[in-house]
Amino acid sequence: RAKGSGRGTFCHFRHEMSDQLAARKRLEHDLQRALTNGEIRAYYQPLVRLSDGRVEGFEVLARWLHPDLGMIMPDAFIPIAEDTGLIQQMTMALIREACSDPMHQAGQHYLAINISASLLNRDLCAHVVKIIQAVGFPAERLELEITESALINDIEAAGLVLAQLRRAGFSLALDDFGTGYSSLTHLRKLPINKIKIDQSFIATMTHNPTSRKIVEALVSLAASMDVEVTAEGVETSDMAFQLRDIGCLTAQGYYFGRPSMPSSVNAFSPLAHDQLERLKAMIARPDGEQPLAQ
Ligand code: C2E
Ligand code: MG
Ligand code: MG
Ligand code: MG
Repeated sequence: RAKGSGRGTFCHFRHEMSDQLAARKRLEHDLQRALTNGEIRAYYQPLVRLSDGRVEGFEVLARWLHPDLGMIMPDAFIPIAEDTGLIQQMTMALIREACSDPMHQAGQHYLAINISASLLNRDLCAHVVKIIQAVGFPAERLELEITESALINDIEAAGLVLAQLRRAGFSLALDDFGTGYSSLTHLRKLPINKIKIDQSFIATMTHNPTSRKIVEALVSLAASMDVEVTAEGVETSDMAFQLRDIGCLTAQGYYFGRPSMPSSVNAFSPLAHDQLERLKAMIARPDGEQPLAQ
């Protein structure tokens, strides 16, 4: 028996367990009401073209604005929504909210929405099409983000659903790429438009040569397969430079902008002034050798 796992520790552990359970029960209970009351809101994070800093799209990220508990992050409530089956209603409400926003309707940019594995069935396409037609948003500007794990269980069935979505005009991105079990060659047969390299590789690439090599390999493999690449979790100008030099075309991360509420997102110039200046300097940088002075 491990040191410190005496009765006291065990009781403490049990208390923690029941606290966690109680918290989860409360969220489970509140979630249906939250959906009815519109407490789950869309936040938007820019996806930026590295060559010139242009915002080409926004990822829709769910936030629960709980009346008593404040803002709750997706990791705390998406699993509950999935377990209770509320994820369908929630996802469709987010798509409706995002796609009916005049700012997004007026722009040229795309919106990317996260799709849970459990929604990846033959009804998905019809549901999404119905919503975007009702609000008048073009399918060509909606990207669906799917994780690898959603595909590996039954890759044949998943392939059929993805093909259906592509026929309807949607783009498909593979989220958190590199964390699952699939290989790019394995996914060759799937009609994917884009991979999003998981932030764990990006976070370490500036100081870990192995990570950098993995990112390089993913970027060049994707290019050879005619698949687009986005780097997730870009937090520093160093990371942005390296990615651009490797040939990665788009990026997302706190360096360019945090997920924000709709009113503080400006589709036409969502970057802060100093970020824009740094990006301009980045384009102007003649070779790619000299790191930019901050
Ligand atoms: P994701 O789809 O991979 O989204 C990217 C996550 O990374 C977001 O976390 C975002 O805020 C965070 N992020 C962005 N840039 C940076 C950065 O520079 N550094 C760091 N450390 N993090 C960064 P968030 O919003 O907490 O969402 C977490 C996950 O929850 C998402 O990961 C996605 O899997 C899931 N999720 C969020 N909204 C939805 C939704 O509407 N439906 C479904 N099914 N899942 C959602
Ligand atoms: Mg995502
Ligand atoms: Mg991701
Ligand atoms: Mg993630």
